[in-house]
Amino acid sequence: MLIGGIEAGGTKIVCAVGDSTGEIKAKQSISTRGPDETLAEIKAFYSNYKLETLGVGSFGPIDLDKNSDTYGMILNTPKTAWKHFDLLGRLQQHFQIPVYIDTDVNVACLAEYRHGAGRNVNSCLYITVGTGIGAGLVQEGRTFQGRSHPEMGHISIPQHPDDSFAGICPYHGNCLEGMASGPAIEKRHGREGHLLGDDSNVWEIEAHYLAHAIVSYTLILSPERIILGGGVMKQDVLFPLIRQKVSKLMNDYVYTGDMNEFIMAPELDDEQGVKGAIALAVGV
Ligand code: ZN
Repeated sequence: MLIGGIEAGGTKIVCAVGDSTGEIKAKQSISTRGPDETLAEIKAFYSNYKLETLGVGSFGPIDLDKNSDTYGMILNTPKTAWKHFDLLGRLQQHFQIPVYIDTDVNVACLAEYRHGAGRNVNSCLYITVGTGIGAGLVQEGRTFQGRSHPEMGHISIPQHPDDSFAGICPYHGNCLEGMASGPAIEKRHGREGHLLGDDSNVWEIEAHYLAHAIVSYTLILSPERIILGGGVMKQDVLFPLIRQKVSKLMNDYVYTGDMNEFIMAPELDDEQGVKGAIALAVGV
């Protein structure tokens, strides 16, 4: 049985074909342009395959309320051509098979839960720290949604005492994403994170914000495992610093088990998106 999985991002869209074991049989990356042109390329890729179902992990914001008239539509995005684009509807209309949609971070979390660093736990949180910060939650095989999808990247966090940076979030200034995303690091220090080497001050500040966020997520959601992915987390120095700070802030109040198993790196390299979209289409 062939299952389609689409990771729809703001700069690129990855189309894949796989099966329920998580094995990818074919994959193609296309640049995200206008919705109609992009959709034409998606259709062209899948024209060679007979799919049973299709899953999509999309950039947002996206309407995920199944009772809403705009379910499956891209909402108020700065990518104006995509604003109010009926992504789910257009895919259903073309493929005439069941199509499932969720956020990019929720499906990334589902992929790690099913096939990666979260496969031996019942609940896990996946946080991506890159151009933006987002997080998805999976419990008992299902991604979490409320009225809409969570926006965990925009929580408030206490300012580091040595950091006077005002933050870059256009909505909140110094929220987590405003202080700790890749572009925030670059603006604060004048250079991209990967060019800043092991400068302890840079990563001390970064770990402070991420650790505070992780403590809040843990107190509210109590996940068994937290997986940290995205470009910024490729700095290996961050993992030990974050674990140390989370331990200190938690102060033994909540049992998290071994910190090395509580906070982990992803295992699916950069294939979480498509593997998660396929897992979404496979179902629980
Ligand atoms: Zn914000």
